[in-house]
This record gives sequence, structure tokens and C-alpha cells, in this order.
Amino acid sequence: MVEKKIPKATARRLPLYYRYLRFLHEAGKNRVSSAKLSEAVKVDSATIRRDFSYFGALGKRGYGYDVEALMNFFSKTLNQDRLTNVALIGVGNLGQALLNYNFRRNNNTRISAGFDINEKLIGTIHQGVPIYHIDEMVEQLDLQQIDVAILTVPSEIAQEMANKLVEGGVKGIMNFTPIRVNVPDSVRVHNVDLTNELQTLIYFINYYQELDDEEEVIIDEETGEIFVED
Ligand code: NAD
Repeated sequence: MVEKKIPKATARRLPLYYRYLRFLHEAGKNRVSSAKLSEAVKVDSATIRRDFSYFGALGKRGYGYDVEALMNFFSKTLNQDRLTNVALIGVGNLGQALLNYNFRRNNNTRISAGFDINEKLIGTIHQGVPIYHIDEMVEQLDLQQIDVAILTVPSEIAQEMANKLVEGGVKGIMNFTPIRVNVPDSVRVHNVDLTNELQTLIYFINYYQELDDEEEVIIDEETGEIFVED
């Protein structure tokens, strides 16, 4: 397959498309119109068409999209046909909630190992997932071929743990701590901040309420900038 660079905003929407296509497939649907897809994933059809165009023209005029073909295509693109093991670093309140959830709606991603220093947890199995001492992390990451880790440790040790993860060869860290960790360019960090998300939501609610009906809001998908047009 020819590797093509796609915009980040497009990449972020792929799981959204994939999830809906899987839902349709499971419901026995063979095709979906671009209007229906647009309505379901809340992305306008022009954007969907542009997103899809990065992967070659996948839809047919008057027919829409072939659900199974598109789903298989995105599945490959998102690496969903390969099981991805994920490590959980810090099995406290948040870590245990994530373990309980363990990405159940997704058959191809799962937390396969937890790491902590709490002696009560070490050697136990939570939701089928073994918890190891943090000192075993580098070795286990290698043994279990884990490339992705979720960081849910106290903020004071976030950087130290990130260093250890880099040493263990991970390529991606989902960071729930409030610390912005420093890692080499070869490692990708996604920061998740629920407070931020909530504040953004509140901002949007207030902002949209203040707009009068004549105005249209345009969001630049790449930069997140908001423009208002009369
Ligand atoms: P917690 O204290 O319940 O859990 C932390 C866990 O880390 C504990 O099990 C502890 O034993 C373990 N730990 C401590 N030192 C360790 C080490 N050296 N190696 C491995 N494990 C170690 O805390 P929590 O409420 O689960 O929060 C965890 C982190 O997530 C904090 O940084 C918190 O600020 C953050 N948090 C983020 C969000 C968000 O929306 N991003 C929400 C809640 C919490």
C-alpha cells in the first residue's frame, strides 16, 4: 500500500467513521448514503468526502458507500485487524476504572498488563489483567511487545515513568496526569484532561447561545480556530 500523509483532523475522525460502519455492519446494513453517514457521525458531507478522498474515491454517486468494504478498509487503516496490547501504569482510582472498562467495545485493543508499587495489588489479577511491580515494567513491555501505555500515576512521578516507558521502547503514551511529559520526538503523547474537555463543552454551549440566528460558525478543523460569518 502506498503510504500517504493525511491531515491530523482526518486521522482523528477515522475511529468515528469506523465505529459507525461497524455498527451498521452488525445491524446487517450493506450500504449507507453520505447524508446518513454525515448525520450519524455529525460531520458534514463535504468533510467526509474530503476525508475519504485521501484514501481514494470510495463512494458511488446515487449508491453511497459500501458498508463492509469501507469498514474493512478503515479497519486495516486503523490497524484493527491486529490486537494491540496496552500497558497501564498506575492502578489506582482512575487506573482501575480504565481496567474495568478495558475497551470492551473494541475487540482489538486491550490493557494486557498493569504496573504499580502497591504491594496489595502486585501479583493479583484485575479483570483478567495481571498487575506487576513497576520494576518489571521494562522487561514486560519487551516480552509482551507492548508499544502503547496509559499513564495514570501521581503527577510527581509522571516524568520519571515517561522516561521508563521510553526506555521500554513504547511508541505512544496516553497521559492522564496533569504534567506535560518530555519525550523524544519518536514517541507520541496524547494528553487527556477531563476538566479541559468539560470547560470546552461549557464554552461551546455559552458561545453558541450568544450567537444570533443569522450568524454561522465556521471551525477551522486544522487549527480549531472559530470564525463567525453573517
Ligand atoms: P491514585 O492515587 O488513586 O492512583 C495512583 C496509582 O499510582 C496508585 O495505585 C499508586 O500506588 C500508583 N503509583 C504510585 N507511585 C508509583 C510508581 N512509582 N510506579 C507505579 N505506580 C505508582 O490516583 P488517581 O486518582 O487514579 O489519579 C491518577 C493520575 O490521574 C493523577 O496524576 C491524577 O491527577 C490524574 N487524573 C487525571 C484525570 C484526567 O481527566 N486526566 C482525572 C482523574 C485523575
